[in-house]
Amino acid sequence: MWAIGECASHDGESTGLVACTDRKLVVSDDARVLLGGVVVGDISLYSQLRPLLGRPLGADPSAFLAPEGGASPPSTDLPDDVVVCSCANVTAGTVREAVTEHGCRDVDAVKACTRAGSVCGSCVPMLTKLVNTSLQKAGVTVSTAMCEHVAMPRVELLATVRTSGLRTFTQIIAAHGTGRGCAVCRPVVASILSTLGVGHVLHPDQAALQDTNDHLMANLQKDGTYSVIPRMPGGEVTPEKLLVLAQVAQEFGLFTRVTGAQRIGMFGARQEQLPAIWRRLVDAGFESGQAYGKPLRAVKTCVGSTWCRFGVQDSSSMAVRMELRYRGLRAPHKFKVGVSGCARECAEARGKDVGVIATEKGWNVYVGGNGGFTPKHAQLLAEDLDGDRLVQVVDRFLALYIRRADRLQRTAPWVEDFPGGIDGLRAVVVDDAEGIGAELEAEAHVDRYVDEWRATLDDQDKLAAFTPYLNAPGSPDPDLAYVPLRGQAVPAATGQQGHPDIRVARTMKVQR
Ligand code: SF4
Repeated sequence: MWAIGECASHDGESTGLVACTDRKLVVSDDARVLLGGVVVGDISLYSQLRPLLGRPLGADPSAFLAPEGGASPPSTDLPDDVVVCSCANVTAGTVREAVTEHGCRDVDAVKACTRAGSVCGSCVPMLTKLVNTSLQKAGVTVSTAMCEHVAMPRVELLATVRTSGLRTFTQIIAAHGTGRGCAVCRPVVASILSTLGVGHVLHPDQAALQDTNDHLMANLQKDGTYSVIPRMPGGEVTPEKLLVLAQVAQEFGLFTRVTGAQRIGMFGARQEQLPAIWRRLVDAGFESGQAYGKPLRAVKTCVGSTWCRFGVQDSSSMAVRMELRYRGLRAPHKFKVGVSGCARECAEARGKDVGVIATEKGWNVYVGGNGGFTPKHAQLLAEDLDGDRLVQVVDRFLALYIRRADRLQRTAPWVEDFPGGIDGLRAVVVDDAEGIGAELEAEAHVDRYVDEWRATLDDQDKLAAFTPYLNAPGSPDPDLAYVPLRGQAVPAATGQQGHPDIRVARTMKVQR
């Protein structure tokens, strides 16, 4: 028997410490049969794998552990006798029959016919997939509804909200949906409202729609504490600001490391400590690095022609220009940018959603790069652009992606699926074949940008969200435990004796 696990980072900064999503599968010795599993955070896999318990998985187990935002888990063709809905004891075969024999044409009809999904509802995602697959096999057009509450896909909803003037979830669902929303449509509406610049993520109309990380503007860690990652455009930081980071980390006992996105991350902050930590950082001139949620994360770069003997363009200044232009821009998924000062590609720009590489004549721009579970090299979109034209092309690309991508679709699969592929995309973005270039440019950058953390610190109502125990504000979680590691403190492993105060743990003698 084997246990295979994956701790998926939502911040994508190669910290190796973030674990918002935790997936473990227990499989037979030959890794073919599913014996059990644990999913924490994004639990969408549960409904897919639950019916397969005790049966062959039908794919490599590790393929089901893809981090959120990477490839989709493999689709599994369930045998007819597998129970899909354990509440109503409905099998996959019964669901298929509802489609093929009883004329059901959507999930609601199958629910009414079989009672599947009508009790606890946890099987509805699996049921939806099964119904849609059966409909497609029967040659029936499948609904593109986002979920059972919103009858249109994200792209259509964004366009509708943009033009309708609707600006709250309640207004949107009243006009274009039913019920009270779910874990699918609520974050999509939150993302759309953020994309359109409708208020702060913690505004009363939006706060309840956010995922955990957006809700506290920090990434949840495996021990229930949070990371603090300020923005550092171009990976640059002055000695004075570096000193502030050191002082804050020392005072709060935070584990400190350089992330893969060329900035400094601090780990182990308790929920109630976040405002005090960010007060110090904001006063020193830092702003939120938005290492949470689905906006621009960071623009990775190299020193370029400023310092490097091989550099042909000033990649650092271009990276800072782009980071300040696109910061705060929320998209269907997080996106990253890279800028290299020559073809040696030290910033690994072609692994980013937007990659820029300097040439003797200007800049080449690549799009659709991706790391993670299914790495993809970005594809060449345009060559030898001057700085302003480069920004114009990137503006258009990002705005088109935001307009036309599905929920949680990263740029790599979106570029691959674009009609005509990279050539079709080039025609729209570079050659303005659809005549929407100016519109896209107006939508891409965030001229209304405000730092979310600064705005929160100025608002007592928003700060109330950071009090975990209303009857004991300021009391830390008694279950926290830390042990020393290489001069800092980290969460104690199961069975390991730790100290509840991370500052004390840092100075403890290392146990051998
Ligand atoms: S990419 Fe080129 S300019 Fe940038 S650090 Fe590497 S060699 Fe130097």
